[in-house]
Amino acid sequence: MPIKDYYKILGVEKNAPEGEIKKAFRNLAKKYHPDANPNNKEAEEKFKEISEAYEVLSDKEKRARYEQVRDASARGFDFSQYAGRGGGNNPQGYSSNGNFDFGDIFDLFSGKQGGKGRGGFEDIFDMFFTGGPKRSYGGFESEGAGQAHGDRGDDVNVRIEIPFALAMSGGETIIKVPRAVDCTRCRGTGAEPGSKVDTCPACGGQGTMQFSQGGFMVNRTCPRCSGKGRIVMQMCKLCGGSGEAQETRKIRIKIPEGVTDGDRLKVKGEGNMRSWNRERGDLYVSFKVTESNIFVRKGDDIFYSVTINPAQAMLGAHLKVPSPDGDVDIKVPAGTHSGTKLRISGHGAKNIKTGKKGDYYVTVEIDMPIISGGEEEEILRKLAEKKGWKI
Ligand SMILES: [Zn+2]
Ligand SMILES: [Zn+2]
Repeated sequence: MPIKDYYKILGVEKNAPEGEIKKAFRNLAKKYHPDANPNNKEAEEKFKEISEAYEVLSDKEKRARYEQVRDASARGFDFSQYAGRGGGNNPQGYSSNGNFDFGDIFDLFSGKQGGKGRGGFEDIFDMFFTGGPKRSYGGFESEGAGQAHGDRGDDVNVRIEIPFALAMSGGETIIKVPRAVDCTRCRGTGAEPGSKVDTCPACGGQGTMQFSQGGFMVNRTCPRCSGKGRIVMQMCKLCGGSGEAQETRKIRIKIPEGVTDGDRLKVKGEGNMRSWNRERGDLYVSFKVTESNIFVRKGDDIFYSVTINPAQAMLGAHLKVPSPDGDVDIKVPAGTHSGTKLRISGHGAKNIKTGKKGDYYVTVEIDMPIISGGEEEEILRKLAEKKGWKI
């Protein structure tokens, strides 16, 4: 990947002083700002490009690193290592929705911590320069830390338990979903309002540091700030520095017919959303199904057990038995053995992935009565004699 010429992009000389770079950027930014060029893809691209160039050239350290990398690239060094995710074709991470106002840009550039608009510039820089994880401000760390700064909020996983009958029939239910939102006191920064947030002294705010490895310079996450680039001097009293609070939201979900243990349902756009996200993550609901007292599910098949008497087993019988679809009539053939499984095809559980229904099995068990002596015994002995049964 050829390295971009940031000087050319801003139309300045290689040795241009800071003031000149700033001036050039301001002029170009006004011209190509998305607000001034609605629905103009070209202007948007251009604006991204100049913002990127300015982000790098306006910062002494970044400028020095850029020149280092560019020089290495000129000597045949593969820059793609540095490009990291996106490489430049990935529009994510750039706040191109027009919500990008100048105040925020200059706040960020002058090192002040803007309350909003943080999504934009850090990400641009990450996207084009470092391969490390995205940084976030103020000690916000979560399992999704790698995505904490992205366009989309984190996904939320919840597990619910539903009764067997509801799982079989499907339906609707309302669930309570805990979601992460910005702490109201620190507005998600994790820093106590009014306290100092310092640029990380180890990495100078980059979030990454260069290490020499096998003769090459490689970028690694800064060990001091864990890639955040900032060090919070005083943690927010409300959230303890996480920057996070929790809200509980009631969300109505559709339970698919036939859902079973471990099935997962995706509810789009009901996950987390923090101030730097542009859209919500998704909600994943996984199901645990309460066992039924009468039915047993194995795969998509449903099993039920019915007890009959020896006369029914020998003579055959018509029975009405419960099934997940309601009562069904079954015919027990004459001479049925104990343990015989009678199958009713297509009356099992619906597989939510294939949409196919399993079968319904009725296992027949024969209850052997203890007969009293006298007449009952006489009859049975007669029958045994007739059938040639050994006694
Ligand atoms: Zn807080
Ligand atoms: Zn650092």
